[in-house]
Amino acid sequence: MEKECIFCKIIRGEVSSEKILEDEDFIVIKDINPKADVHLLIIPKEHITSLREFNSEKADMLGKMLLVSKELAKKFDQAKDGYKIAINVGKGGGQIIDHFHIHFLAGNLTGLP
Ligand code: AMP
Ligand code: ZN
Repeated sequence: MEKECIFCKIIRGEVSSEKILEDEDFIVIKDINPKADVHLLIIPKEHITSLREFNSEKADMLGKMLLVSKELAKKFDQAKDGYKIAINVGKGGGQIIDHFHIHFLAGNLTGLP
């Protein structure tokens, strides 16, 4: 539900977050419980539940969100040697928040898949 969704609340400014950048279609924030030196979340402003809800109409938006990782890599020294992109899909895929998001991880990735 969009009303109770934590990421929708962050996008509406009702819950605070550490914003890294913002575009008309998405925001990038710091993950509150980082699993690497740099752990960011790329989140569409539209409440889309998971990757399963994407279709060809939204393919451009998905591409744009993936490509922003190149910009993020320039911003963070820890990503100079590379970084990890992860998308959890559904409960079985480890998705806890039912608002699509892309994890951007860099620095100290040991232990991550
Ligand atoms: P996932 O398991 O893919 O659904 O990941 C959800 C991520 O959101 C986790 O890494 C959480 O640490 C992160 N998270 C949860 N609440 C917040 C919040 N209020 N601000 C920033 N990140 C959050
Ligand atoms: Zn939402």
